[in-house]
Amino acid sequence: MQLELDVRDRRVVIVGAQSAARRVTRRYEVAGARVTAVVDGPVPPAAGRSPRVRYVVRPQDDDPSDWMNLLGPSWLVVLVGTDGTDTERLRTLCARLRITLTSEAAAAEHGEVTLVGGGPGATGLLTLQACEALREADVVFYDRLAPSEELERLAPAAELVDVGKRPHHHPVPQDEIERQLIARARAGESVVRLKGGDPFVFGRGGEEVLACAAAGVPVRVVPGVSSALAVPAAVGIPLTHRTVSRAFTVISGHDPLSADELATLARLEGTLVILMGISNLPQITAGLLRSGLAPQTPAAVIERGFSSTQRTTVATADRLAAEVRRLDVRSPAVVVIGEVVRLLGTGGATAEWLDQALAGSGKLVP
Ligand code: SAH
Repeated sequence: MQLELDVRDRRVVIVGAQSAARRVTRRYEVAGARVTAVVDGPVPPAAGRSPRVRYVVRPQDDDPSDWMNLLGPSWLVVLVGTDGTDTERLRTLCARLRITLTSEAAAAEHGEVTLVGGGPGATGLLTLQACEALREADVVFYDRLAPSEELERLAPAAELVDVGKRPHHHPVPQDEIERQLIARARAGESVVRLKGGDPFVFGRGGEEVLACAAAGVPVRVVPGVSSALAVPAAVGIPLTHRTVSRAFTVISGHDPLSADELATLARLEGTLVILMGISNLPQITAGLLRSGLAPQTPAAVIERGFSSTQRTTVATADRLAAEVRRLDVRSPAVVVIGEVVRLLGTGGATAEWLDQALAGSGKLVP
């Protein structure tokens, strides 16, 4: 059973090796507890230590009366990665003192990097593995599209480092991000690289995996819910639908597409999904139409999916670029071109208003 407890100003004793208990200690400290950390080895140097954490050396020879004095005034005792005899001894003492005892897993001993897919922006679309990796992180490097609003709650023990683009804030270059991931993991820390959507969909995740592997740093990937699929779904556009579309193609519109690429895409049946496609949209749609895409093909652009300012614009393919300009559609946005757009928000039946929208001028979906 899992319970949420308010530990503010409560006295909490944490028992475990200092490095194994570092994140548990930090979590209780951040939650406002008055922490006493009982460590095996030497007490860490005062510099850089939190005033809310008091370190004491484990009682010599495990003297029960020393333990009683230590645990007596506490409200909660947390065992971190302790062995069976320790657990038994402390359980007996806590039972006698009527103090709640709980245990938590030890932090990993060796540093590692975990690439975590953060999904399209809604915290609820983080996977359980993503939440677990964040909870166990010493440091999180995140960028603009990663769900960052609730990071402090999701990664309470971690240092949070923003490496993304912001106005008046230059993004950290890719090779510098890789250098930092490797350096922190080599220092023994659990490093999370949090990315929007899925790390391997236009996310440069592959490069980071290769860099870690080349440096001999253990690295693993937690897949995420990609915006390519989730953002259309947020407005009820299925990428495939029986009798309408049995394939979808996801492309990056970041760099201009060649005439050959556009001709190939125009020939493909099914749904076309474009990420990072807003600035090059006029070139892309013009090329597709030149290569034979039917001008009346329905299309939609969904901006800032899953945010409170999410906005959807629909138009036929021949008018899409003009509508995007007229309505000042901005990145991040997902473009969907294909007959499935007719299913938008209808749960199956084509809505009359959508036909009208597609026939008339571009329409914002309510
Ligand atoms: N790895 C990410 C994609 C990174 S490329 C993923 O799997 O989702 C960045 C592009 O993703 C943006 O330019 C935009 O096209 C799209 N995108 C990501 N999140 C989005 C969101 N919440 N709303 C709309 N588009 C989004």
